[in-house]
Amino acid sequence: MGGTPADRRGRPLRDLRVSVTDRCNFRCTYCMPRDVFGPGFAFLERSELLTFEEIERLVRLAAGLGVRKVRLTGGEPLLRRELETLVARLAAIDGVDDLAMTTNASLLARRAAPLRAAGLGRVTVSLDALDDATFRAMSDVALPVARVLDGIAAASAAGFDEIKLNAVVKRGVNDGGLVDLARFARDGGHVLRCIEYMDVGGTNGWRLDDVVPAAEILDRIGAVFPLEPLPPRYPGEVATRYRYLDGGGELGVIGSVTTPFCGDCTRARLSAIGELYTCLFSGSGRDLRGPLRAGADDEELRALLDGTWRARDDRYSEQRADGTPGLARVEMSYIGG
Ligand code: SF4
Repeated sequence: MGGTPADRRGRPLRDLRVSVTDRCNFRCTYCMPRDVFGPGFAFLERSELLTFEEIERLVRLAAGLGVRKVRLTGGEPLLRRELETLVARLAAIDGVDDLAMTTNASLLARRAAPLRAAGLGRVTVSLDALDDATFRAMSDVALPVARVLDGIAAASAAGFDEIKLNAVVKRGVNDGGLVDLARFARDGGHVLRCIEYMDVGGTNGWRLDDVVPAAEILDRIGAVFPLEPLPPRYPGEVATRYRYLDGGGELGVIGSVTTPFCGDCTRARLSAIGELYTCLFSGSGRDLRGPLRAGADDEELRALLDGTWRARDDRYSEQRADGTPGLARVEMSYIGG
């Protein structure tokens, strides 16, 4: 042990996604279909969730092992009360030089400024459509998309620059709005990132036919707004980057299905109850809450983190591509995207 651990494929641990709740106020069909996550669904009890002190301790230990980027996720992270308090704690940790959050922004309008003041550096907003009908077909909630757009505007006003807009693209549902989404992002100075629809979890009824490949997304947007490739900013960057030739900004594409990027994946995920997952498509995670609440000291917890990462061999998207059947997978809403 010691230094920055590398997994069995030589990938360092750089990026920790921290789910602070498994609850969400949306029911996006590709993540949390209502027929499964309905009124009777047993969400985690508050007492089961890691406390802010426990999250801070694990993130501090992970930073000691090389984590530089921490992303707060859910479910919907803004459903966790007093999230600003956690943000302030995490922003103060040595080594964490990139503190970000992914949100559906429906609760962001009133929270953007306090989150910014608490030390949040970046915001990524899930935005799958600009018209209410398509927005509803993707998110399965009766909220107007204007609520999300207000959240984005509030984030800009609060000083969050380069806001990323993540759009999961599902054929026959929202792909017809790709160019409109690109235009909206360009006009607002945001970065649209189009995400290939993925077989996350086991409840979204995923079919390959519903996937719009990254190449097709680029062709459709590029036909209206010509593009050229940009180099990645750092190894393991999730999105493939493109620049609009007319200077209209940047576009990203996340092609987990057709262009897997496991080779330099540096991401681990912490569930809201303290399980460490080493892949978005893992079936199970290493329990850290048990040892933590049983009184393990920092050395013991660090060894658990280190050992879990060193033993990591995940490359699910590559395996999917070469036809290896997937095992049971954790729900994305449980560990964050
Ligand atoms: S499938 Fe797993 S290993 Fe591959 S990029 Fe995604 S999280 Fe990383």
